[in-house]
Amino acid sequence: MREAYLDYNATTPVDPRVVETMLPYFRESFGNPSSVHGAGRKARAAMEEAREEVARLVNCDPVEVVFTSGGTEADNMAISGVAAALRGRGNHIITTRVEHPAVLATCLHLEREGYEVTRIEVDRQGRIDPDRVSAAITDRTILISVMHANNETGTISPVREIGEVAARHRIYFHSDAVQSAGRIPLDCREENILLLSLSAHKIYGPKGTGALVVRKGVKVHSFIHGGSQERHRRGGTENVAGIVAFGKACELARGSLAAEPARLQVLRNRLEEGILASVPGVLVNGDPCHRLPNTTNLSFPGTAADSLLASLDLEGIAASSGAACSSGTLKHSHVLAAMGVEPAVAGGAIRFSVGRENSDDDVNHLLAVLPGIVERLRGNWKPESGERKAV
Ligand code: PLP
Repeated sequence: MREAYLDYNATTPVDPRVVETMLPYFRESFGNPSSVHGAGRKARAAMEEAREEVARLVNCDPVEVVFTSGGTEADNMAISGVAAALRGRGNHIITTRVEHPAVLATCLHLEREGYEVTRIEVDRQGRIDPDRVSAAITDRTILISVMHANNETGTISPVREIGEVAARHRIYFHSDAVQSAGRIPLDCREENILLLSLSAHKIYGPKGTGALVVRKGVKVHSFIHGGSQERHRRGGTENVAGIVAFGKACELARGSLAAEPARLQVLRNRLEEGILASVPGVLVNGDPCHRLPNTTNLSFPGTAADSLLASLDLEGIAASSGAACSSGTLKHSHVLAAMGVEPAVAGGAIRFSVGRENSDDDVNHLLAVLPGIVERLRGNWKPESGERKAV
């Protein structure tokens, strides 16, 4: 059966060059980077080289890179770490309604601990208005956390403007760049970002590795206590092979930024336009101008996302939805709900995210099977005439 993996925002295959780079650190170069002997020093040198590559990708200083177990831990470290470090100064955190659960659940946890959280509304396209962020600031605000690009819709936030607002008020600004770093240019100095979350497995690196960039002078309490690794910010023997791999993935991502985003945008546009032309009543969710080049989130009213995904899976096509199915009940995407997408429309929304190994053939395969699947799932359902295009 022909297969098409169109779910690169969920995860990416590990680049063979990344695998090659990491393998020696399981075998002959297995030293503990804290050891003073040659084997340890070799592991440490490789890790520090990787730190430089991560820093180069987002334009920060290598000493500002703290390796973590991934994006989720980086988000937790940023938000809980700042909350604890600045408790004496204030207890108010500003975030948005469309963040990844790694941010939302951390904020909810802090709320239960007595912190106050403001969740900024987004517009119909999922964009955050910096003026709303500004208006939410109080004299107790210690942190603003706004994601760079949304994982479900690809909508890109005006982080530079939000960073300026934060800097004017001398408030820390954290951004979750798990979906954007290495996919589009990102410069944390230019964008006024003081804390930045990264993950390796979205950029052809292995799962379970990531980093939090903590710019110089920013106070963050650590919450993994142990040895003095990562400048006392995260105890525990480092995941050397994973870190080395992350460094290589960052180097490769940096090299691909000149051409790959444009190639993916052409492919994504072909996919999106092909679906809009061949399936009636489809709605695009997200910002048409400020969007990751590889992502499209489409609603197929009259269908349920889980049925659509299952039917596509039978055809060898992997896509995804923001809706989570737990205990037999379908919970709609919090992102689409925040954008004001009606439940009936949100319930039939799926995300296609293209990547390095996709070609026109994958799009052709999708376009060959999707119209029939939607027609079958819709049965007698007909798109309302004059239905709004929710771009
Ligand atoms: N933040 C965003 C925006 C994500 O898309 C993801 C993963 O899907 C994460 C955080 C979590 O990253 P990780 O899987 O490395 O824990």
